[in-house]
Amino acid sequence: MSRPAHAVVMGGGLAGMLAAHVLARHAGSVTVVERDVLPDGPGHRRGVPQAHHAHLLWSNGARVIDELLPGTTDRLLAAGARRIGFQGDQVTLTVRGWQHRFPPTQFAVLCTRPLLDWVVRERILASGRVELRQGAEAAGLAGDRGRVTGVQVRDSGQGGTTTIDADLVVDASGRGSGLQHWLAALDVPPPGKDVVDAGIGYATRLFVAPPGATAAFPAVNVGAPHAASEPGHFGVVYPVEGDRWLVTLSCTRGGTLPAREDEFEAFARRRLGHPLVADLIASAEPLTPVFRSHSGANRRLYPERHEGWPDGLLVVGDSLTAFNPVYGHGMSAAARCAAALDRELAAGGDVRRAQAAISAAVDDPWVLAASKDAGYAGCRIDATDPRLVGDHTEHQRRFADSIIDRSLVAPGVCAVVTDVISLSAGQAELGSSGFLSLMHKEEPRPRLTGPPLRPEELDLVGLPAYESVPTA
Ligand SMILES: Cc1cc2nc3c(=O)[nH]c(=O)nc-3n(C[C@H](O)[C@H](O)[C@H](O)COP(=O)(O)OP(=O)(O)OC[C@H]3O[C@@H](n4cnc5c(N)ncnc54)[C@H](O)[C@@H]3O)c2cc1C
Repeated sequence: MSRPAHAVVMGGGLAGMLAAHVLARHAGSVTVVERDVLPDGPGHRRGVPQAHHAHLLWSNGARVIDELLPGTTDRLLAAGARRIGFQGDQVTLTVRGWQHRFPPTQFAVLCTRPLLDWVVRERILASGRVELRQGAEAAGLAGDRGRVTGVQVRDSGQGGTTTIDADLVVDASGRGSGLQHWLAALDVPPPGKDVVDAGIGYATRLFVAPPGATAAFPAVNVGAPHAASEPGHFGVVYPVEGDRWLVTLSCTRGGTLPAREDEFEAFARRRLGHPLVADLIASAEPLTPVFRSHSGANRRLYPERHEGWPDGLLVVGDSLTAFNPVYGHGMSAAARCAAALDRELAAGGDVRRAQAAISAAVDDPWVLAASKDAGYAGCRIDATDPRLVGDHTEHQRRFADSIIDRSLVAPGVCAVVTDVISLSAGQAELGSSGFLSLMHKEEPRPRLTGPPLRPEELDLVGLPAYESVPTA
């Protein structure tokens, strides 16, 4: 893409900040227009309500961010984030049973979302190469149906609207983006859209963890056994900075979530497939009320296929593709969008080519999340992606289930699956002849019938050894 003289990014979340950072390498100047006034430190704000909930940054996302902003993971770890090796440092109960804790082949970074956003944002703004217009809402696009030439900005303090001229505008305003309305005002039809909505709900509280537990006790991820026709319930306990546990309970459509503080532990005990999550929080001191979210639909736009897409406009992050958060792919996808933008700016192609590359960067997480969710009870699907609709999807889902089943007990299979879910390998890897032969030939370990916790880990959090609980 040719070098923009001035680029404007709408939205100063993770996707917007990373996009602004790479634009600053290639454009004459860059402005981020952000509706919130951003906190001067790791703090919550209105525009990112999901920041109260558990966020996991997969190894691929962490590596991409480190390539764009070297040293970011180290800074997060120095601020108290935990690096979890997969599958060694997490205890996981899937719908098919307990996962063996095989030696880690990938990792994830666990911390609160405000810390992650702050560490990224502070460095980008400190560079002095990105101008921030905060407390300023993007209210529309300037230009015509052939070309976007700027952004209309409403100042939340003064209320007036001004236009910032730009030869490149990037929409990074998240799941609630007004892009469709802004395009309509320019007489541009909306881009194609796919929605796969499994009705995901989240309920989260922060707790004080027992001394030493955030460093040495594994992360926990417990699902409940359920038939495909029934709602699913899940719970995670993630160690985060400040010796705290972030505990998120979630469900698919038709499931229930705790609304009140006094229901939280009882809900975890009643709904999840094992008492581990409830036992961990039973004596932990809660620090927050229950935060809830129902922003869990997979939603993808296809600007790259739009015949009349205006020049000068790109879409990235959640605004382009939002995922069911359970898979932990949104932040990695935002990073992949920025990396694709960086490559395209360096290569000097046009906006259409750049959008195609950005959209390709979110395809793997999209198909992983949307195809899994399409199998949940009551999932609402309004999609044209041939990988999500049609008779073959049932067969694909059975194959995916057999892979998950095998990965619980076979380390080689588990390593490939972990590469794919951490986005470190493409999902085509699961169809390779090497992988298929591993599926058939690898000697499985005996199935686990309870959580694979070591005596010293149980001692650390004051729990007795669990009796074996049949889960298959
Ligand atoms: C409950 C939940 C849990 C999640 N868990 C995970 C996880 O474990 N791992 C993971 O990788 N991802 C997770 N995600 C997804 C992750 O939060 C998003 O993918 C990520 O925040 C994408 O960032 P973004 O910058 O595209 O959008 P956002 O974070 O939504 O940022 C959008 C920004 O735009 C601003 N804005 C909005 N409208 C305007 C406007 N008109 N003008 C100016 N500014 C505007 C907002 O204030 C905000 O700053 C989760 C999401 C949810 C809902």
